[in-house]
Amino acid sequence: MILGIDLGTTHSAVGVVDSGFPILLADEEGKRVIPSAVWYGGEGEIEVGRKALRRRITDPMRVVTSVKRWMGSGRIDDPVLAALRKTPEEVSADILRELKRIAEWRLETEVGQAVVTVPAYFNDSQRAATKRAAELAGLEVVRILNEPTAAALAYGLDKLKERSRVAVYDLGGGTFDLSVLEMQDGVFQVLATHGDTRLGGDDVDRMLFDFLLEGLGELPVEMQMRFLDESEKAKRALSEDLAYTVRIPFYDGSSSFEKTITRSELDQMTREWIKKTLKCCQQAMLDSGLKNPDLDAVVLVGGSTRMPAVRETVAAFFEKNVDVTQHPDEAIALGATIQAGVLSGAMSKMVLLDVTPLSLGIETYGGLMNVLIPRNTTIPCKAGEMFTNAADGQQSMRVRVLQGEREMARDNWEIGKFDVEMENAPKGQARVGVQFKIDADGILEVLARDTSTGKDVIVRIENSAVNVDDAAVEQMVGESVEFAFEDMSERIFTEAKLKADELLPAVEMILEQGFVKDEERLEIEVAVSKVNSAITSGNANALKAAVKTLDEATEAAATRLVERAMEEALEREMAE
Ligand code: AMP
Repeated sequence: MILGIDLGTTHSAVGVVDSGFPILLADEEGKRVIPSAVWYGGEGEIEVGRKALRRRITDPMRVVTSVKRWMGSGRIDDPVLAALRKTPEEVSADILRELKRIAEWRLETEVGQAVVTVPAYFNDSQRAATKRAAELAGLEVVRILNEPTAAALAYGLDKLKERSRVAVYDLGGGTFDLSVLEMQDGVFQVLATHGDTRLGGDDVDRMLFDFLLEGLGELPVEMQMRFLDESEKAKRALSEDLAYTVRIPFYDGSSSFEKTITRSELDQMTREWIKKTLKCCQQAMLDSGLKNPDLDAVVLVGGSTRMPAVRETVAAFFEKNVDVTQHPDEAIALGATIQAGVLSGAMSKMVLLDVTPLSLGIETYGGLMNVLIPRNTTIPCKAGEMFTNAADGQQSMRVRVLQGEREMARDNWEIGKFDVEMENAPKGQARVGVQFKIDADGILEVLARDTSTGKDVIVRIENSAVNVDDAAVEQMVGESVEFAFEDMSERIFTEAKLKADELLPAVEMILEQGFVKDEERLEIEVAVSKVNSAITSGNANALKAAVKTLDEATEAAATRLVERAMEEALEREMAE
């Protein structure tokens, strides 16, 4: 099991793919998102999330927030971090440890691996610091995923069409970035990203704070914290309602505070602030070389995109409807979870390729791979072939469904197998048709029919036919190239050997029954011994040539044999 983790500046979340579905895991309070805040008590106690945030009012110098800003940076300008003598990695590790704890508690099992998201603009040292933080928390990072890519996965944009371009507008509590992605064959590439690590919803809280405190004079730190909290509450409320009244009873010991603020006042206040994000958008679009109409979708993530003014302004800027169907504060964690599910195999690959990534076929005599649907065939598709029995009176035929590019069955993957009953027939006389059909959903249906009985066996093989991990496809194709020579020579040898196995007993019979003229005998005997020695030496080309020579040397005798048989049959008929 692999966890998907959004280690955010203000909030973090963890998820896992359970029964094929990505879900975020809620903590004991039922919350799927926890504040990225850590409180360090004087006695070495640690509290993470909402509990830590609550302590900020009474113990502000012991609560670390927004530590992500300092990840992997040499200069750390945070008095709380300095006072506590903590590194950003250590604090992040404490947040990750808490997420791991929540996950293990929910899942009732230990988990040691995770996909962790980082902003697209994070450099190597910031990514490395994130990895180290995870290691400190006892988590192996199996993939560092760009946040906009995670968002795009959550929105299912990898399924939009074969090639798509999307803009991800991420406005959180403390940071903003716009990323332009291009997705091709299910893989996202960041074309451009631009942002501001000092721009976010917190700014709005401060604007509201200033608005509320106008003319109130100096307040004690605790009361300031209270006002800041109320400011955020007001901001959130104004995403739903057109007006909100902040009330703080006895805020200065005697009088109560009450002030109403309207949505339009807030819009006015935040206009310039939103404009700043558009500057980044402009720059990112310019860098990407794309124009607005080139974009297939614009998605919004980050809690601050719940603000109606943000939505409207962004939609107007991109001249597009913006996609807000996912929870903006859960989308990245959800995307990380989807990626984790794909990597762990808990979720079949999200991208439904419209071609078969690898060849599909069945095993035939001699352990050979017989391809029915070659690699890169567009689905839906259908293909079939007739097979026969390898032995007299064979009762059944095993159909081994294989996937891969190698010549020998054993080097490919078996994705299914079943038996087809056969009518009693001499070797090579039975006829079994095998048909492969892949529908638009990538489900492979294998049908096998003994043509003499007309009885069908149908087996459905879900998922594996088209949903193959990219890395596995790459490996399989790579190996088929690497071993092309060996594979081919083994196939040639096997095919020639099968032919020899048929030919040698027939030749022996011809020799014994006197169909061979004396002048032919020597040539045939030499050819037989060449076939035998090529079999022993294992030389594919020598065996192929020897079998051909033997076939030619016995051709005349074989013709006489057939003629004799026909004459006999004719005589029998006449006699009757
Ligand atoms: P994130 O970093 O993505 O979790 O975003 C957190 C930011 O989103 C904080 O500044 C929150 O105050 C803000 N936020 C969350 N919900 C809302 C809302 N309903 N309206 C406006 N801002 C919100």
